[in-house]
Amino acid sequence: CAAQRLGKALQKKYPFLDIVSGAKEIEHFADTLDASGLFNAPGQEHNLLASGLTGYVTIMRGCNFACSYCIVPSVRGPVKCLPVADILADAAQKAKAGAKEIMLLGQTVNAYQFENTSFADLLNQVSRLPGVERVRFTSPHPIYFTPEFLAAIKDNPKIARHVHLPVQSGSTKVLQEMKRGYTREIFLEKVRALKDCGFNISTDIIVGFPTEMEDDFKETLSLVDEAGFFAAYCFKYSPRLGTPAAKMKLLPQNILEERLDILLNKVRGLSDAAYQAQVGTVQEVLLESENKGRSSGNFWVKTSKSYPVGSVIKTTIKKADGTLLFARD
Ligand code: SF4
Repeated sequence: CAAQRLGKALQKKYPFLDIVSGAKEIEHFADTLDASGLFNAPGQEHNLLASGLTGYVTIMRGCNFACSYCIVPSVRGPVKCLPVADILADAAQKAKAGAKEIMLLGQTVNAYQFENTSFADLLNQVSRLPGVERVRFTSPHPIYFTPEFLAAIKDNPKIARHVHLPVQSGSTKVLQEMKRGYTREIFLEKVRALKDCGFNISTDIIVGFPTEMEDDFKETLSLVDEAGFFAAYCFKYSPRLGTPAAKMKLLPQNILEERLDILLNKVRGLSDAAYQAQVGTVQEVLLESENKGRSSGNFWVKTSKSYPVGSVIKTTIKKADGTLLFARD
């Protein structure tokens, strides 16, 4: 979105950039690369259009929220959901070309609603397409995870048991200043409901939002413990031009760095524990190479035998080492 808004001005400021391509041109990115002439030499071709095991399917554009630090709504506008028939055709075409996993994309992907089709209906329909072994989605917004949604998908094993659910802060006060649309308690309630349906949860967290006091940061640390995330992308706050938060006074950089270090240490510990907790469990693994793939919960698993790429195996996990599980297959 920043590339969309700043366009060529970015190239002026950073002359080493070869290409600036904004969010609205994402569907034509392969053409942009072709037109750049950067990938014409033999052996240097980009493989953006090559069919992979994961087929990415956009189901909506825009966002109806107005988080105070984010430029997405002002660049992409309000939510516009794509017709169900177009989405199913896109996913079916990708499955036919070899995709085993379909990843549905949207800024608040679980807000999808087209005529009478809800997001849960769409997930179930995509999972029934020939050749589709697994369906994932990103990024959801907590408030759209309703009991009705969970009831509609909980018995469908093709819907991957992983949700990347951005929280951004564990302090209700900061969440309100970020205009996230939920409180700490509501977020944790959604996490509990998702975990009850077997979902592993990862998240995004911003440290050092301008109004984040020491106690607010401590609340983020305690929320990370309570939610039991198995992974988190943690960022230091940086202002985006034109957003309400960009007018706020920044916290000193050393505070941001200290908080990020503390948070990353905590997340590492939780991640290790989450991988260890998989030992002894039976997992369904979609092979992305002959002896490595991902479980439904999004853990990387190494097998001892070789299998055809794209096959799905059921195996018991015998050990965990860092962020890799080893199968007993
Ligand atoms: S929900 Fe996400 S995309 Fe929408 S405004 Fe907030 S951060 Fe930006």
